[in-house]
Amino acid sequence: MKVHEYQAKKLLAEFGVTVEDGVVAQSPEEIQSLIASMKDYPAYVVKAQIHAGGRGKGVFKDGMKGGVQIAHSKKEAIEIAQKMLGNVLITKQTGPHGKEVKTIYITEPQDIEKEFYLAILVDRNRRQPVILASSEGGMNIEEVAEQFPEKIRKEYVDVGIGLAAYQIRRLAYFLGLREKETQASFAKLLKALYQLFWEKNASMVEINPMVKTRDGRILALDAKIAFDDNGLAKHPEILALRDISEEDPKEVQASKFGLNYVALDGNIACLTNGAGMAMSTMDMLQPMGASPANFLDLGDSAKEDAIKEAFKIMIHDPHVEGVLVNIFGGSMKGDMVARGIIAALDGEEFHLPMVARIEGACAKEGCELLKKAIPHIVIAEGLEDAGRQMLKLLQQKR
Ligand code: GDP
Ligand code: MN
Repeated sequence: MKVHEYQAKKLLAEFGVTVEDGVVAQSPEEIQSLIASMKDYPAYVVKAQIHAGGRGKGVFKDGMKGGVQIAHSKKEAIEIAQKMLGNVLITKQTGPHGKEVKTIYITEPQDIEKEFYLAILVDRNRRQPVILASSEGGMNIEEVAEQFPEKIRKEYVDVGIGLAAYQIRRLAYFLGLREKETQASFAKLLKALYQLFWEKNASMVEINPMVKTRDGRILALDAKIAFDDNGLAKHPEILALRDISEEDPKEVQASKFGLNYVALDGNIACLTNGAGMAMSTMDMLQPMGASPANFLDLGDSAKEDAIKEAFKIMIHDPHVEGVLVNIFGGSMKGDMVARGIIAALDGEEFHLPMVARIEGACAKEGCELLKKAIPHIVIAEGLEDAGRQMLKLLQQKR
């Protein structure tokens, strides 16, 4: 689960990090009174709040440039904020459709001497948190990693010991932070970030940019936090920050039924049981030049109503041109899957090309039920055959 920048900053403040003065507005009426309540600063930073990075370099649908803009008066800040609110911001991370801006964050300005990159995430191979720091702040970190890998320093944290003082010093020196006060300010920020990361079960905390101000302080100018969904049950206060309107509605609907659903950008909907099955179905389709519209794993305990819901979500996705069912029956029986699918089609006009490959428990019964209910269905023999049949049907349709 992701949160907005202003929410991440509030959390940072709870962990003792000094955060800039700022206000958050959700309606045009609010903007004026909230800015009026701010102190007088030489400038104001107006920031669109969406769950995607690259806002600074983003462009709005109406041509306005910059999801992060500097205003030189309260009047100008109000004008910019009003133009952003309700507008659609397109960045490198939003995809071509962009995201509607529903919240605006307005902060005091900072006098920046240098920008850095700082993040904590989980290195899955090493099963350890890793801290990434770079002197190339503000830049896309993937580009830094490609062009100047030596400009990124990693510190792996031994979770039994926690973040050690020498690791913080090593990072401070690597970043060229020499003054005592600046080092202390950096240590305070990093310790708080690690504590937040650990205690709140975050999967990523990213500060880009972390800045050094001209008077030698270290500040988090931007903050992105993602939480491990598996840890949310322990943190109702984090779950309360969830902004469902920023998430894919199909994924939200699926999560209500306990399904693991990830929307992808292909055109073949895949209904499978087990994450391994979902992955091998995707791996089988890609080399054939086909691409899945989703990753859906029914798991092994989904009941008929969850299967029905999953199938409905898939066929109502406008990008879907064909449906591939790939089930290996165990505790998830073939006939139960078939009944779920048939229930989903009740009252629907269903003409999408469809291929089913069902093996294992009650496979025969499942196939019989499907053939009766969906006359145009193709029953495949094995995984590869299912992929080939699906492609054939799609080509015939074109
Ligand atoms: P992102 O583009 O979505 O990552 O949004 P950021 O919050 O990182 O803002 C983009 C850029 O705006 C930063 O890299 C800074 O260069 C600039 N910026 C943000 N806040 C301030 C500020 O208070 N003062 C100045 N001068 N620049 C800022
Ligand atoms: Mn940023």
